[in-house]
Amino acid sequence: MLSTPQLQLLAAALLAAIAGTAPRMVWLDRAPTAQPATASATALMTVDSATALADACAPGMFLDDGACVQLPQDESWGEDPVGAPEGESRWNGHFDRRGQWQAYEQIPRRPERPADYDAYVYPIPPGLPGGHHVVSGYDLDLPDTMQRRGRTLHAVGHGAVDLPQRRGTPIRMIGLEHQVGDARVLWVGEFMGQSVLTLHTVREGGREREYVMIFGHIDAAAEGLKRGALVHEGEVIAFVGNTGSPELVHLHLEARRVRDGVDGRKLWPGGVLSEHKTIVCDPRNVLPLKDAAR
Ligand SMILES: [Zn+2]
Repeated sequence: MLSTPQLQLLAAALLAAIAGTAPRMVWLDRAPTAQPATASATALMTVDSATALADACAPGMFLDDGACVQLPQDESWGEDPVGAPEGESRWNGHFDRRGQWQAYEQIPRRPERPADYDAYVYPIPPGLPGGHHVVSGYDLDLPDTMQRRGRTLHAVGHGAVDLPQRRGTPIRMIGLEHQVGDARVLWVGEFMGQSVLTLHTVREGGREREYVMIFGHIDAAAEGLKRGALVHEGEVIAFVGNTGSPELVHLHLEARRVRDGVDGRKLWPGGVLSEHKTIVCDPRNVLPLKDAAR
């Protein structure tokens, strides 16, 4: 059960999320090394201006969109001609529905990637008023109290973006930032409702890495789409639906980085969500930018 203050904070966060104006929060992670975070190691406070928190972040970090973010270590970040810089994974955690603290590894948005979801290209047209795409964003880098809760607390946190659209809208493959070659279909069928999973090779940190993209809750996959097929940018792979998510017709789009030493081509759906095989990643690290597409 949540205490009254927790419920109030949760309600405020939900209202803010709906209004698109998240309160200024700072999350002070005192364990920058790759150690599991604990609830007591994470301090959270609400402030009304970033300047009041000029000294809130540890040396080597800066305040970005309400959170302390690690400064790039390498001055060539953003200028690497052979690909994107490599995103660092971090530990975070949340309380599950039984009230138990769950620590997990995740890859937050890199500081040079825009926070604005509308800066990116998506596999479907915008479905919200004003040309906006995202009704629910990536929150696994946020403090527990700022993460999404399902109505029944069944799901805590959201490691993806949810893109509402009309049922049957074609979902077109996108080329990820610094992608090498075509995407490869890993799975078509039951996963998050009906889903298509694809494998992408991305030039990152001076080498090639693999990412799995999950297109979840689709109405149906494109006819004939099968594991092993190569799909190029613009190709229709599926249609928007609400399978496994009857509350909202939308596309759940999730990015997961394949761990070193794991062969992405050999992944089956049962292994894709395994923490030993992949790490969940803020999709903004790999989605193509609108400006670059013009
Ligand atoms: Zn989702």
